Amino acid sequence: MKKQKKHQNDILENRQPGLRNRETNMVSFLFVALFMLMAGYLIWFSAVQAPHIINNPYNKRIDNQEKKIVRGKILASDGSVLAETITGEDGTETRRYPYGSVFCHVVGLNASKSGIEGMENYELLSESGSILDQLANDASGQKVLGKNIVTTLVPKLQQAACDALGNNKGAVIVMEPATGKVLALVSKPDYDPNMAPSEYNTWLGYDSSDSVLLNRATQGLYPPGSTFKILTALAYIRQKSDYGSYAYTCSGSAYEAGGTTIPCYDNTAHGQEDLRAAFANSCNASFSSIGLELDREGLRQLCSEFLFNEHLNIGIESSVSSFSLDASSGISEVQETAIGQGKTMISPIHNLMIAAAVANGGIMMDPCFVERIENADGGVISVSEPHQRAELMTRDEAELLAGYMRAVVTDGTGSALSSADYRAAGKTGSAQYDDSENYHSWFVGFAPVDSPQIAVCVLVEDAGTASSETVPIAAEIFDAYLNR
Ligand SMILES: [Zn+2]
Repeated sequence: MKKQKKHQNDILENRQPGLRNRETNMVSFLFVALFMLMAGYLIWFSAVQAPHIINNPYNKRIDNQEKKIVRGKILASDGSVLAETITGEDGTETRRYPYGSVFCHVVGLNASKSGIEGMENYELLSESGSILDQLANDASGQKVLGKNIVTTLVPKLQQAACDALGNNKGAVIVMEPATGKVLALVSKPDYDPNMAPSEYNTWLGYDSSDSVLLNRATQGLYPPGSTFKILTALAYIRQKSDYGSYAYTCSGSAYEAGGTTIPCYDNTAHGQEDLRAAFANSCNASFSSIGLELDREGLRQLCSEFLFNEHLNIGIESSVSSFSLDASSGISEVQETAIGQGKTMISPIHNLMIAAAVANGGIMMDPCFVERIENADGGVISVSEPHQRAELMTRDEAELLAGYMRAVVTDGTGSALSSADYRAAGKTGSAQYDDSENYHSWFVGFAPVDSPQIAVCVLVEDAGTASSETVPIAAEIFDAYLNR
């Protein structure tokens, strides 16, 4: 009996340490797993969620960050200061914009968190030092400097775009097709951001047509007019393998039974045309009849691939371009849509992304405004990488369209660019926006056509004819960049 009991005790004694070890191991494992989960969550939260939450203007944490951190600077690509915070002797802070109105829409306003001020709010209000520095700063209670944003913007080009647009209402945007880097972005009418503390409420009161706060380059929506013929031509090339033998005789307008009469500009009879000539002449009669030959669902699908009816997600505020043609649309709507009238609406930055995709061999890049983020001493924290948005065309299709756009300059409506030292390509457009004879005027294009360095979009509101206003503006931008 005793022996047996002793034996049982031995077993218990021998087993219990093992059991205890296993339980301890389980508990330790659970703690480690929980710790890993929490660490993972914290890393995910600070990398993915925190910027969104901190950028949310309703978040109280922004107030706290502003108490602890002097908002970082926004710099041009050459290091010039575009926005900085000046601290007065009494500790009051003023956001200063040294270039006044020149960069107002793209740099944006701290007050309304628009433009790059809004897009990079989190980084501008983040301490740029190490964790130890941050703890030391927290302990001392002294304000520290936030991170600086080095943008892709080029002051000389921005100034040239601003001057070229002059007193017109409209927008000019300049982008590198291969990287999506935005080199200049101007919208007019503009405002002096230094006056925001006293004038902001007055600006808010303007109605939309005069609004100075509206960034027309990204938020403005306009009928694309004849710039849309880039997409009509692409749809036709894809749907009709015999596009090379396309022939049309333009008598100055096209009438379609059950539809409407589509006039060419000034009722000019363009005569015998192939597809390239119809594109170069911006022949409405020809393109409205091309529209009727297209499979509507195919055109709709193409426009959806080209980001119509979709958020552009470019970082700064932008509007959604719209395309509504479908199988049930009437003949008139098809005719009008094919020449960029009808119900289609597009923002200038979206139109530029399309032209830049042609320049870039069919690959659309996301517009990029930030070159890198630095700490207050100029040390590089992170560098932006170009981001491909979509592969929209084959290289052959892009080259064919680039050739048509070159023909616009050599033989068509963009001839004001034909004598330039560089070989530019583009498409003009005029878009009627009400029942009167009021037109918005467009140019989208790039240069040099064989190895494009910059793509440009010009939109002038209420400008009269297509080429008279916008092509010379584009020429000034190309000159400023390519004849440096
Ligand atoms: Zn014509």
